[in-house]
Amino acid sequence: MYKLKFNEKVCATCPSSDCLLKCQYMTFSGHKEAHAEMMKIVRGKDSRVLHECVTCYACEEYCKRGNHPFYLISERREEKGMLTAARPITNQWINMTEMQGKYLVGDVKDKALSCCYIAELGALGTGEIFKDVATAGAFGAEFMCPAVHTHFAQMSVIKERLPVVIDNFRRLGVKEVICLHDECYGTFTSIASAYGMEVPFKPVYYMDFLLERMKELKSKIKPLNIKVAYQRPCSNRLIPDKLPLVKKILNLIGVKMPKRVYQDENCLCCGEVIRSVSGYKLADDVQKRNIDDMLEAGAEYCMFNCPACQVALSEKVSKRGLKPIHIIDLCKMAIGEKEREVA
Ligand code: SF4
Ligand code: SF4
Repeated sequence: MYKLKFNEKVCATCPSSDCLLKCQYMTFSGHKEAHAEMMKIVRGKDSRVLHECVTCYACEEYCKRGNHPFYLISERREEKGMLTAARPITNQWINMTEMQGKYLVGDVKDKALSCCYIAELGALGTGEIFKDVATAGAFGAEFMCPAVHTHFAQMSVIKERLPVVIDNFRRLGVKEVICLHDECYGTFTSIASAYGMEVPFKPVYYMDFLLERMKELKSKIKPLNIKVAYQRPCSNRLIPDKLPLVKKILNLIGVKMPKRVYQDENCLCCGEVIRSVSGYKLADDVQKRNIDDMLEAGAEYCMFNCPACQVALSEKVSKRGLKPIHIIDLCKMAIGEKEREVA
């Protein structure tokens, strides 16, 4: 069985304890308390963090010393039999993402376009931008990153399923897998590496692909001249080095991101996992603060990266006068492939 690579000494000598001090869902009196709680987790003891963490993934970004605090929290919870959500919800996720041989694979050669287990991604990965890879889709539980189970402290499911997913791609004979879901790219890079799993293909982040394609299509771009608020997803916390791509893509298509309170490291998650883990009160509060902040910043659109966030928030932002749209659809709008009204 794969084991999380975690350097205890790095935590023991940590001068910041940023993983917990920056947490938006728990407060600590200062470094001493946060450090003491982290060391309890490291040593396998009980900690209030194991009871209070809402699984936002952010501490994976806050730790700049190469450790994996959130994966460790999830490991410890599972070891202690601590469920983050009610058992039926935890089991529902395990069951509905089980591999059953009902996957779809297109005309895959050197490259596959990973649509994870999210049908909406198939529609996004089309048109001029994806013309060379749109037919090379891979969709289904067999190609789904199992990272969602970290929210439910089921790391054993990830350790069991991820090597199978990696092997399923390997058996397609691909050299590159373009990941349309942040969580897939985060899984093939951050999680696989944290557990010492070899990935025998090159994972490509879709925003890297998108940026290159938009540069190639520059002559077709008509600047959109709109303001958007970016709903950064939890899985982007696993790959913080990819965050600057958003601004680069938006600059190319004439889209502004007005300054917000809840952006970049300080962003708020879409709230729907929090609803399962901590209940409706906190989830509603997070969503309200987030949408209020988008409106106060003067945004016209709420721009999504993850389709799960889009499902969670589209109706809510629409009711408040914001137009929900995925970043790929914004790019399609900029090259005239998508009507503005559709947004
Ligand atoms: S996980 Fe990272 S930030 Fe947290 S105590 Fe350990 S080294 Fe420091
Ligand atoms: S995952 Fe989020 S809520 Fe949990 S400890 Fe890390 S930062 Fe805090």
